[in-house]
Amino acid sequence: MDNWLEGLEPIVEHQELKVPYRYSMGATTSKFFIEIRDQKRILGIKCPQCNMVFVPPRSTCGRCFSPLKDWVEVSDKRTLQTYTIVHYPTPVQPVPTPLIYGIVKLDGADTGLAHLINETDYERLHIGMRVQAVFKEERVGNMLDILYFKPLP
Ligand SMILES: [Zn+2]
Repeated sequence: MDNWLEGLEPIVEHQELKVPYRYSMGATTSKFFIEIRDQKRILGIKCPQCNMVFVPPRSTCGRCFSPLKDWVEVSDKRTLQTYTIVHYPTPVQPVPTPLIYGIVKLDGADTGLAHLINETDYERLHIGMRVQAVFKEERVGNMLDILYFKPLP
C-alpha cells in the first residue's frame, strides 16, 4: 500500500457543465437589494445582543446566533480593507480584466463587503483608502446595481 500511486496513470476527462438555475434570495437579502435598487441606499442589520452590524445583512448573527431584524442605514462611504488585481479573465467575471476586487467596510458596519474597485492607477491603491459606492442608472435588484466603489480624493 506504500506506493499504490506508482505507475498509475491518472485519467483526465474534460467536461462542461452548464446549469441554469433560479433561487429565492430570502426576505433579508431581498430587502437589502430592493433598497439598493429603489433608493440607492445600503442597509445593514444590527444584532440586538452584541451590536454587530452586518453588511451584507444576514438573518442570524454570526457571532452570537441571535435572530436579526433591526435594519440600520449605513454610509455609502467605505474603507478598503484588502484587494487583489485580477489579470486572468474568466467567464464569470462581471467586467473585463484587469479588474480589482476589494473588501470594503462601510462606515457604521462591522463586516466587509466584496466588490469591484474602480482605480486604474495601481500605485494609488492602498489598504485604508476611502471609497464610495457608484450605483448603476438602471438597477434590477442584485449586487451589480452597485457598479463599483470609486476612490475618494
Ligand atoms: Zn450578535
